Amino acid sequence: MTEPTALPLFSCRCPCGASAAQIAGRPLGRFFCHCTICQAVYQQTYADVTVFWGSAVQLPEPCNLQFRRYRLPPALRRGTCPVCHAPVLGFLRLAPFMQLAFVPTRNLLQRAALPDPAMHIFYHRHVAEVSDGLPKIAGYWQSELAVTRLVMSGLSHPAQR
Ligand SMILES: [Zn+2]
Ligand SMILES: [Zn+2]
Repeated sequence: MTEPTALPLFSCRCPCGASAAQIAGRPLGRFFCHCTICQAVYQQTYADVTVFWGSAVQLPEPCNLQFRRYRLPPALRRGTCPVCHAPVLGFLRLAPFMQLAFVPTRNLLQRAALPDPAMHIFYHRHVAEVSDGLPKIAGYWQSELAVTRLVMSGLSHPAQR
């Protein structure tokens, strides 16, 4: 049985601070994404992304985030700040009752509590060569599969749901 008090709390904030969300739950995984959408929205060669359960995210009420659907990756809704237009977080629906939250790691205030990045995905889209020891996953479906595996391995830890 898990103790509710054991859930770590994370604060997610856009760069200008106008948009924020609370996340009550353990991170399921963290990776670097080289997809063209990340390159465009973060204006970097790749993005540092941390994954949580969607249900762990508490959006502000009323929610000021502007959600937009992207065709790739499938069923991903990215929420951006109406003021600075930077991405705040995104939701990926895996199944009717299963949703993941993809949070740009730079938006999380408690960075010391996060796992280390496990891999690079969408590496076939990379514009800058990265020479670290992490696995480089190329290919669309290979990348999706690698994220699914990462999240599933995150589930096997205790005190997670
Ligand atoms: Zn991406
Ligand atoms: Zn903002």
